[in-house]
Amino acid sequence: MEPGTEATIRLVVAVAVFAGMAAWEILAPRRKLTAGRVARWPSNLGVAVVDALLVRLVLPAAVIGVSLYASGHGIGLFHWLNLRLSVAAIAGFFALDLAIYAQHVMFHHVPWLWRLHRMHHADLDIDVTTGFRFHPFEILISLGIKIVVVLALGVPPVAVFVFEVVLNATSLFNHSNVSMRPGLDRILRLVLVTPDMHRVHHSVVRCETDSNFGFNLPWWDRLFRTYRREPAAGHNGITIGLPEFRDARELRLDRMLTQPFRSEDARS
Ligand SMILES: [Zn+2]
Ligand SMILES: [Zn+2]
Repeated sequence: MEPGTEATIRLVVAVAVFAGMAAWEILAPRRKLTAGRVARWPSNLGVAVVDALLVRLVLPAAVIGVSLYASGHGIGLFHWLNLRLSVAAIAGFFALDLAIYAQHVMFHHVPWLWRLHRMHHADLDIDVTTGFRFHPFEILISLGIKIVVVLALGVPPVAVFVFEVVLNATSLFNHSNVSMRPGLDRILRLVLVTPDMHRVHHSVVRCETDSNFGFNLPWWDRLFRTYRREPAAGHNGITIGLPEFRDARELRLDRMLTQPFRSEDARS
């Protein structure tokens, strides 16, 4: 597949999922927003554009490129084990998802990484646009981690591609403010991180922020005991955000991008 085709498919899927989830949450919202859309959407969508430009300019199709190189040169554990492509692809998908879970835990517990990641948590509401709200430096570090995993294991390009598309889609899905029947949430939660599950992670209460780290598969949180079924205050009583960034000015794009370099650090 041409790198341009890969980028186009990723973009089309992301825009389609964004439009679908935005329509769903506007028609059937789970919670009433506190800061609202007008104050937040331009910045959250703005950071999505910054991230797309940065990653596209600095590292075009980087992870897929590394994966193609590894498969062309027989690099990585899966090649040495002579795994069939289908087995290597499935194992690679799971390994990448576990790596993203581990990276997320690390971003919470290593102070300088938390400074980058806390911008994601500083949003005063959580909706589909929060799924785009990652600091560009966090995106770059995440790319580096994915490259290491792909090289070490020799994850096939098809698995990398599917993983990237699915992760973009699930990030938009699980941040959205959509109303869903409890029965549907329970069933989906067996295989997928649902909006109700990820919302706990955006609670202002520290022990709730430090739970439900998964973005895609919900199993790692259960396995490593970081799973929390629901927020103590309930989904309608939960306060979203961080104690140190309650000012609505912090929702501006320029303030968001400089948050890592300012001294409002609550965590040591
Ligand atoms: Zn987090
Ligand atoms: Zn989140």
